[in-house]
Amino acid sequence: MSNTYDDNNIFAKILRGEIPCHKIYEDDKCLVFLDIFPVNPGHFLVIPKARAVTLSELDEEIAGHLFQVGHRLSKALRSSGLRCEGVNFWVSDGSAAGQEVPHVHLHVIPRWAGDGFGWKIGPTNRQALPPAELVRLAELLRAQ
Ligand code: AMP
Repeated sequence: MSNTYDDNNIFAKILRGEIPCHKIYEDDKCLVFLDIFPVNPGHFLVIPKARAVTLSELDEEIAGHLFQVGHRLSKALRSSGLRCEGVNFWVSDGSAAGQEVPHVHLHVIPRWAGDGFGWKIGPTNRQALPPAELVRLAELLRAQ
């Protein structure tokens, strides 16, 4: 499924310099800036310069680069003195997955036990599957 890219989305405007951001890092492929509504202080976003709504629209190399940069900067987060006892690397890939801004972004979020943030697990989630079903699902995905 392909998504129509909206050049007026907020991250496209940040990339064009039309609205400000608190930049942490930039190279020819990506821009990194603070999330203005952080889960915790220091939460930042790694975004590609390429126009893409979802990861599947990005070259593998650029998608990997986002994670490489997030990985490198997560070490800066850990050594910064900000509270950071663990890190979430998180991509909401598509609106059904909770994506609000329609330009790919990797969240890098400092975490600590008891910080109040967490995934909501509904009554039908996290059900143990029978072994035969796990075999079927793995075969299905391997075949793709
Ligand atoms: P998502 O829900 O995964 O699409 O995440 C979008 C993120 O963008 C949220 O965490 C917002 O807080 C963040 N955000 C929205 N507008 C801005 C902005 N102007 N500058 C920085 N972060 C923003």
